[in-house]
Amino acid sequence: LGVPMHVHDDDVLVAPERVMNRSGEPFKVFTPFARTLRAMLPPHGIAQAPELRRQDSQQVARAPEQRALHELNWGEIDSRWESLWPAGGPAALNQLDGFCEKRIDNYKIERDRPAIDGTSRLSPALAAGVLSVRECWNRATQWHEGDSALAWQNELLWRDFYKGVMTHYPRVCKGYPWRGDVGYVPWRHDETEFAAWCEGRTGIPIIDAAMRQLLHTGWMHNRLRMLAATFLSKHLLIDWRWGERWFMQHLVDGDFASNNGGWQWCASTGTDAAPYFRVFNPVTQSKRFDAEGRFIRTWLPELAGLDDREIHEPKTQRPAGYPPAIIDLGYGRERALNAFRSRDV
Ligand code: FAD
Repeated sequence: LGVPMHVHDDDVLVAPERVMNRSGEPFKVFTPFARTLRAMLPPHGIAQAPELRRQDSQQVARAPEQRALHELNWGEIDSRWESLWPAGGPAALNQLDGFCEKRIDNYKIERDRPAIDGTSRLSPALAAGVLSVRECWNRATQWHEGDSALAWQNELLWRDFYKGVMTHYPRVCKGYPWRGDVGYVPWRHDETEFAAWCEGRTGIPIIDAAMRQLLHTGWMHNRLRMLAATFLSKHLLIDWRWGERWFMQHLVDGDFASNNGGWQWCASTGTDAAPYFRVFNPVTQSKRFDAEGRFIRTWLPELAGLDDREIHEPKTQRPAGYPPAIIDLGYGRERALNAFRSRDV
């Protein structure tokens, strides 16, 4: 029809096919990838296509006409979702501004503490494509020069990294592990234990609190995603693809590349993944990152009365109704190590 079409890369900082190592191959390790990609970006921010900027301002002007979800006749929608995750580009830009103004400077020290609102929570907007990752990068570059903004940008680089893995190694989209040699780890397919994990009934408080946060908000803190995924794939030795699917079904920020990358990192099947013998102990991690049990108390009110020591691993004060631990952590760890060793990885 003669309508001109202009194509812009905007879902990534740099298109995956442009970020290659010196031999012209895709990076398999994050650190050199990140170094190379950073060097490709102009120091004062990435130019955004004028057409995109214009569209953006038009969209802001149209914002008052945007309809609330409940006006779209999609049936009953819990109003909680609208307040938890305000929809649309203007809302996402406001959120980005708020994060850069108030919280980015503390990101480095607060980002691992699940009881603190220390991260941007922009992942749903980024995953839905209503916010450009370049806009995020530019704001962080322009407004802040400290370590903390660099740490936040580093996370944006992980997002690009996993999009690159998905692009260059499409086998990961077909249920295959990135590392073929660990494809045949004898994963367990225990539906009862899997259901306990899904529903937050494992008897390990930090894991249960994390899984309940997911069910109630559609989001889970990054540190807890790592713990929940490691617990499922290592301590329970359950097929990580079951967990990957459960996350995609429940995450409001569900993004194939980041979710698959995160799961394969934890299950030690991915590129630049945690080595198989690195098994986070959820109780130790809980004591470290939620020392006073504030996060646990929020999501597991039945444990709220426990003291700061018992809350991470209730033994003597286990309240009625809260299940005993589904597995001995030491046993689970050894079983996982043996399973991986038996495959010579
Ligand atoms: P911030 O800390 O504010 O980071 C800013 C942005 O950087 C995020 O919004 C996200 O787009 C990106 N980012 C941060 N950490 C990572 C990471 N490790 N990998 C890739 N991108 C990252 N992220 C998703 O967006 N969708 C998913 O489906 C998803 N599944 C995950 C599954 C597992 C098992 C793990 C370990 C991680 C997963 N992540 C996923 C990555 C990360 O947990 C979330 O991006 C982060 O928790 C989102 O919160 P935030 O926006 O406050 O992040």
